[in-house]
Amino acid sequence: MMRKVFIVHYSEIGVKGKNRAFFEKRLVNNLRKALRGTGYAHIRRISGRLLIELEENSALDEIQHRLAKVFGISNYALAYASQQNINNLQSDALRLIQECDFQTFKVDTKRSKKDFPLTSPEINAEIGGYLVANTGASVDLANPDLTCFIEIVEKYAFIYLSKSGGSGGLPVGVSGRVAVLLSGGIDSPVASWLMMKRGATAVFVHFYSYPYTDIASLEKVKELVKLLTVHQYHSRLYLVPFIAIQKEIVVHTPPDLRVILYRRMMMRIAEILALKEKAQALVTGESLGQVASQTLANIRVIDESAQLPILRPLIGQDKNEIIEQAHRIGSYKTSVLPYNDCCALFVPKHPATSASLDIVKTAEENLEINALTVEAMNQVEVQEFTSPYTTNRCMRNSS
Ligand code: ATP
Ligand code: MG
Repeated sequence: MMRKVFIVHYSEIGVKGKNRAFFEKRLVNNLRKALRGTGYAHIRRISGRLLIELEENSALDEIQHRLAKVFGISNYALAYASQQNINNLQSDALRLIQECDFQTFKVDTKRSKKDFPLTSPEINAEIGGYLVANTGASVDLANPDLTCFIEIVEKYAFIYLSKSGGSGGLPVGVSGRVAVLLSGGIDSPVASWLMMKRGATAVFVHFYSYPYTDIASLEKVKELVKLLTVHQYHSRLYLVPFIAIQKEIVVHTPPDLRVILYRRMMMRIAEILALKEKAQALVTGESLGQVASQTLANIRVIDESAQLPILRPLIGQDKNEIIEQAHRIGSYKTSVLPYNDCCALFVPKHPATSASLDIVKTAEENLEINALTVEAMNQVEVQEFTSPYTTNRCMRNSS
């Protein structure tokens, strides 16, 4: 039996010049966490790719399943290790494709080892000719039933017949930290996912109005964080009581400004937590025009409440596009559980759609902003979430 190995090709990180080693090491680290308990043997950096070396009893399906969720991977393949000579490659390729049902094929060689005696087209021709002679199948370069991939790299020679697309993006952690304002809704988990996809580590901040809202709404947020933690292996969730602030806003300010004032208070508190976490931006699930608080005028007023940039990865997306992504990342079912969110409380029938900063600031003069912020900060709770993968759980034979 030929030795099996996963070859992992990464996306943009190949072109990052001097930073490349940094990116690769982060990806290797993330893979170690993602693959914990699958019984893989070793992860090796070789030129331009990673190899996941396997044991007899490695859980191959589980490894594939988890690789699909690791950011920074463009594609991955379960490959067979052959030898760096054309005769071995020919006979090993034949052995592999004989197990498949096909009429046409092509050979697709990548040769990173430039001193191998044959060029890539020569290898394609040598192996292709051999396979035609021994199977009766014919070559179709444009639309083959089967592609036989060959990679010659460093001291290795690999053969594989299919590859899977990865999640793309950058390895989580290479882009620094962000603080995501996570509601229990559909949008903010998708916004978190997009930021993690671009290599950011997300710290989560949730504002709750318990006991005015259902305790289950807190469980729902924790469930969402748990789900998102699959992509970054460790998460921190800050739970901030918000009801005292809402009450003050309701009593002392005009109803049409409530949502904007809620949001500005959230930004102030989230910013304090972000700075504490060395996060460099705040993130929300806002999308232009989706609701009254998300008009350009209101976004401008909300932005003024924080110094850190407020990133809105969903700003240009339609609700149905966001929902589609929520399904894809698996957060939708949890997000639509029908529990009250704090912002549904005391929301007026006609919220302002274009608040002016002057009017908002005048309204805020009636609030003890600092005292309210300090009081909320004093009651903040933190929860840690770790990767759901435990050791040995997925070994095929754990004997
Ligand atoms: P979502 O589906 O993310 O809840 P939404 O369409 O309900 O978004 P809003 O309720 O206006 O929109 O919230 C806009 C953004 O403000 C959210 O995406 C989220 O980033 C933030 N936000 C709202 N409520 C909370 C909360 N209770 N805790 C933390 N962040 C919140
Ligand atoms: Mg919401």
